[in-house]
Amino acid sequence: NLDVGIVGLPNVGKSTLFNAITKAGAEAANYPFCTIEPNEGVVAVPDERLDVLAKMFNSRKITPAIMHFVDIAGLVKGASKGEGLGNQFLSHIRNTDAIAEVVRCFEDENVTHVEGSVDPVRDIQIIDTELCLADIDTINNRMKKVEKLLKAHDKKAAAEQALLERVAKGLEDIVPARRMEFTEEEEAALYDLHLLTRKPIIYVCNVAEEEAADASGNPHVKAVQEFAAQEHAEVVVISAKVEAEIAELPEEEAKEYLEMEGLTEAGLNRLIKAGFKLLGLQTYLTAGEIESRAWTINIGTKAPQAAGKIHTDFEKGFIKAEIVSYDDLVKCGSKVAAREKGLVRLEGKDYVMQDGDVVEFRFNV
Ligand code: GDP
Repeated sequence: NLDVGIVGLPNVGKSTLFNAITKAGAEAANYPFCTIEPNEGVVAVPDERLDVLAKMFNSRKITPAIMHFVDIAGLVKGASKGEGLGNQFLSHIRNTDAIAEVVRCFEDENVTHVEGSVDPVRDIQIIDTELCLADIDTINNRMKKVEKLLKAHDKKAAAEQALLERVAKGLEDIVPARRMEFTEEEEAALYDLHLLTRKPIIYVCNVAEEEAADASGNPHVKAVQEFAAQEHAEVVVISAKVEAEIAELPEEEAKEYLEMEGLTEAGLNRLIKAGFKLLGLQTYLTAGEIESRAWTINIGTKAPQAAGKIHTDFEKGFIKAEIVSYDDLVKCGSKVAAREKGLVRLEGKDYVMQDGDVVEFRFNV
């Protein structure tokens, strides 16, 4: 549940960002369609709490949560009608949980812009158009099935038909489904369609190296922020070039480089955190001598299902969860001290997990 697809027009810096993500060094050449295979990269979700726990528990290793990035090439004007790499990219997007859309906010005469000028909101709308067209196809296919259901006097079909018509109408006006309001029931009816324009989205403004630390003077960034605010999307401002350079460096040097650039944190970390937030995810922690580890769950997950992330047996045989919040644990300095203060709780199967819970599950085998 942590697959993020990187999309964007050609030459906006996708490959450069992706290189930073994988450190693998895929080709970043100055021409369209240079990334043909969908590439995948896995990154650790940065979590300072793990280092603190590992010290406290003398852990032999640290295992962070991970996030999966997929570099999806081929989005150009006309892509949904088979231009560029055709619409193979659509199925790759369909398989992701969220979209990170890289938009070019840097000026550089040496780097061709496929549309001839830097205008990220226009670029977003080009991509929106392609994704809306793809979603219209999806809706039309479903509509055919619904018409059959109507003929068979299916009770729900009329409501679904009305819903599909409404969504199709919006899509025809290039309104992405993420900008539309739906009831919970409608949401459920649409779920299986996996509409591309319904996916949560983060706009990644790729700015020039000089603006890595402060892009407040960049009008393109401002325009993207205003656009994104209308659809509750996240915006992360990074310099893909700086990120790629940081990724090449050993940790200590990377820190120095960040300071030199006036950054407190790598942009990649901000992107990962934004993705986490956008997807409604949170982390619980386990700590012991073997390892200190972060586990990813949806906000609202109950204790047995959280336990099931570790092992299905933990869920099946769930008895109790022994929980202390990370903050309490750190304040007390040790689990023994936290226990003496009564801050270690035993929670049952209805307990809703909280971010930063440090957990030990009790279960039957
Ligand atoms: P993609 O087609 O979206 O994958 O774009 P690439 O990552 O291949 O980048 C296209 C070109 O733009 C490459 O020559 C990069 O070096 C260059 N580029 C990427 N980011 C920046 C940036 O922030 N500033 C400048 N000046 N060039 C960049």
